Amino acid sequence: MAKSVLSAPHFQTEAAAFAYVEAELWPNGPVCPHCGETARIGQLNGQTTRAGLRKCYACKKPFTVRMGTIFEDSHLPLHLWLQIIHLMCASKKGIATRQIQRMLKCSMKTAWFLGHRIRLAMAPDASAGPLGGSGKTVEADEMFLSKSFKTKKTAEELAIGRRQATPQVLSLVERGGNIRSMFLDHRMVGPFLYEHVHKDSRLVSDSAQHYKFPPVASHESVDHSKFEWARGDVHTNTLEGFFSIFKRGLIGIYQHVDKKHLDRYLAEFDFRQNNRAKLGIDDTKRAEIALQGVRGKRLTYQTTHREHPEAQA
Ligand SMILES: [Zn+2]
Repeated sequence: MAKSVLSAPHFQTEAAAFAYVEAELWPNGPVCPHCGETARIGQLNGQTTRAGLRKCYACKKPFTVRMGTIFEDSHLPLHLWLQIIHLMCASKKGIATRQIQRMLKCSMKTAWFLGHRIRLAMAPDASAGPLGGSGKTVEADEMFLSKSFKTKKTAEELAIGRRQATPQVLSLVERGGNIRSMFLDHRMVGPFLYEHVHKDSRLVSDSAQHYKFPPVASHESVDHSKFEWARGDVHTNTLEGFFSIFKRGLIGIYQHVDKKHLDRYLAEFDFRQNNRAKLGIDDTKRAEIALQGVRGKRLTYQTTHREHPEAQA
């Protein structure tokens, strides 16, 4: 990562960081998060005033652009947030929690949680809609994340004397469009396809049992058991490249990903794939797109920690 990239003012000073984020999130000027007021808003500029502090004269309440975003429950200065977002957007395989920790000189817990909030910003919102549609092809394929032989068997595995089913990721990609991945049980493949693939699409997959009756207009498959990987344009090669980047990222960067958190990592890799350089999106633009996703998404460490008490962070 070139140092010069992070020398831009919004990565270096709080005032510039606020100006940058405000321009991105409030393109038409400030909006009061309490009451929606857009006109009667003042900027507070005292010596001891926090950067970016505004006051709404409609509801009399103070606010900043951080309110109602992933930045809200954080003490980390905004310009440092922007540095980390930029690096996560610019690194093809993501950045390690330890790297964040070193950069910010913060605790592992802070670094880990910061990464997860940025992943949340990268996740598509619920209004994204299904992939595909009439005349469009959607590839579906799975990636198995096998456990390393070095990892200890769980008590349950020792009892049954074998490895349990490996974690499985299902990815869908609309050719020429977006990718969407989820960590799921193979029994959930049907419902996932139903929710995320437009019914007028053409689906291509391998011949696994769970693709037998897909809820789509047409379906073609290749039979890996007969060493058939592609038949004309019936293949899942678009996903193969993505899987290899994800696996290398998972091995190299995120060495100890708990499967409970896998969906967030998938959202991060999907995001970079969907906003890749080949589509004309450079690192700066990608970070701007990620920034658009910070709104309306709050994740508190308490919640994450309660859901996943094993998280050492
Ligand atoms: Zn207000």
